[in-house]
Amino acid sequence: MLNLSNELKGMKSVAISGHIRPDGDCVGSTMATYLYIKKNMPEIDVHIYLEDIPDVFNCIKDVDKIEKADGVDRIFDCFVCCDSVKERIGAAEHIYDNAQKTINIDHHITNPGASDINYIVAEASSASELVFNTLNFENIDEDIAKALYIGIIHDTGVFQYSNVSPSTLVAASKLISFGFDFPTIIAETFYQKTYVQTKVCGEVLENSRLFLDGKVSFGAVTPQMAEKYNTVSKDYDGIVNGLRNITGVDVAIFMYLLDDGSCKVSMRTNNDNVDVSAVSHTFGGGGHKRAAGVTMEGTMEEVLEKLLSEIKKQY
Ligand code: 5GP
Ligand code: MN
Repeated sequence: MLNLSNELKGMKSVAISGHIRPDGDCVGSTMATYLYIKKNMPEIDVHIYLEDIPDVFNCIKDVDKIEKADGVDRIFDCFVCCDSVKERIGAAEHIYDNAQKTINIDHHITNPGASDINYIVAEASSASELVFNTLNFENIDEDIAKALYIGIIHDTGVFQYSNVSPSTLVAASKLISFGFDFPTIIAETFYQKTYVQTKVCGEVLENSRLFLDGKVSFGAVTPQMAEKYNTVSKDYDGIVNGLRNITGVDVAIFMYLLDDGSCKVSMRTNNDNVDVSAVSHTFGGGGHKRAAGVTMEGTMEEVLEKLLSEIKKQY
């Protein structure tokens, strides 16, 4: 198994990144890696590059050290990519391309493992659980543990999804032994939403539609809603869960428009009747069997048509 300290021995500089529009697992896994290197390998000049993160993750130590990758032309000894393929890390991709050595820690079934060192386990709950496996337990502190715990709870829906395994819970039990206030972390980072986030979610659910005899639910934030509530993509975390929790639904589809007019799709399933990673892979996206995403060109209705026809093929 990969041991991060061994891999980075003798290195002078390390860059870390994760996927665009970072979620809890992306922020948790990359920040834990950052904090671990900073604490245990002080000789390494370590940098973390991510797009803007949701405000709820400001409780993680040193998130103010996160940098933007645009225009950085430095050649790092090593690049650690967590929770993503290198093609999905946005502006940090050129830093990855220039690095002497690349390490990829990920749990996406669609990741082909094309870095120099690959620790990719599709069955793992989260990249954060995998990062935990790469660290020496005695070198973890409360801040690192908290970042990893946040990553795990976000990708498992607080331990409710089928990606939870005995080893996920063993990792979580070791992490909570550091004594951070986990009930507050769960409430404040996972369940709580701002008032506008709650309102826009309500409007999406109010306007949701069912397809394929109620087996597929669909909801979207229209540009009009985004303008009315003054919301952006990071305000939409969790809306898809409202769509998936409808009785009889196998697949939930959630959409909103990106700035360039393309359509960002999130899909979730409640069972194995449909594999949404295969659906999203057809259109150039990726993810997991039960949670996947893709960005597609076309109007929302056109994109919906395409997705429904792919889903239909799986029945
Ligand atoms: P979400 O719907 O929350 O954006 O993503 C669900 C899962 O699919 C996450 O694990 C996410 O990393 C992955 N995913 C979302 N969008 C894409 C995409 O465009 N490409 C790939 N490869 N994975 C995606
Ligand atoms: Mn993840």
